[in-house]
Amino acid sequence: MWNLYYLYLIINKKNYDNIPNKKIEWNFILKFTFVTLFPNLIEPYLKDSILSRAVESNFISYEFYNPRDFTKNKHKKVDDSMIGGGAGMLLFCQPLFDCLDEIKRKDEDAYIIFPLAAAKPFRQNDAKRLANKKNIVFVSGRYEGIDERVIEKYANEVFSIGEYVLTGGELPSLVMADAISRNVQGVLGNEASLDVESYENNLLEAPSFAKPEKFQNLSVIKEYLKGNHSRICDLKFQMSICKTKYYRPNKEKKWKTDI
Ligand code: SAM
Repeated sequence: MWNLYYLYLIINKKNYDNIPNKKIEWNFILKFTFVTLFPNLIEPYLKDSILSRAVESNFISYEFYNPRDFTKNKHKKVDDSMIGGGAGMLLFCQPLFDCLDEIKRKDEDAYIIFPLAAAKPFRQNDAKRLANKKNIVFVSGRYEGIDERVIEKYANEVFSIGEYVLTGGELPSLVMADAISRNVQGVLGNEASLDVESYENNLLEAPSFAKPEKFQNLSVIKEYLKGNHSRICDLKFQMSICKTKYYRPNKEKKWKTDI
């Protein structure tokens, strides 16, 4: 009952604002700690839409650490050329070691993730699993990346968000934080939508439609209009299999072997 009430407040912020001294207290707040030279690339995304509401409602929180603040050299330099040669610069050890030591000193359970182009792919299962952590630290690389010793010493996990190389780890950190946040209880408001989403049980979501039933001569699937929910459910399941077979044949095969 109370959960429903709180969900209502979250969805309708106007009403939340109208209730004096009503602070939502949840047992569980997931904190994201972003280690980045460019916090401004990340913060605007967290200040809008679903994630900003999740922050206001105390489902998630975030903070930034800038490795530049931990430098010990006169010019606050964080990058240097590569030992053994090679094009480009690397983030060198000292500022990152000191920064991550400080984070660990404050929270020894902080879970440190390095976004890396070369790492294993980040998947929906990872998003779900990591939603149970208390403090996830994303360390964004820049330039040609990070001295490998930083990763060796501090990484709990490393992830790639796809087989391409981006200019920095800020977008991958945000992508992962967003996907993880959706799996934190309360963030979406309608958790039921998570159960039928793409990548659940290796299947993709069936086609969906909104009103009107006909738009520019394009109709929705007729069965959806007949109100027979078990029939619609069955049809969606069949379409979900077809869609998976078309877009992700390997996943459809995996689904078949798993059942
Ligand atoms: N020289 C590195 C390599 O070949 O793997 C690429 C470095 S990239 C220009 C700089 C930073 O962007 C990386 O340290 C990493 O944090 C991030 N990055 C780039 N592409 C990524 C991807 N596909 N997934 C996750 N992180 C990525």
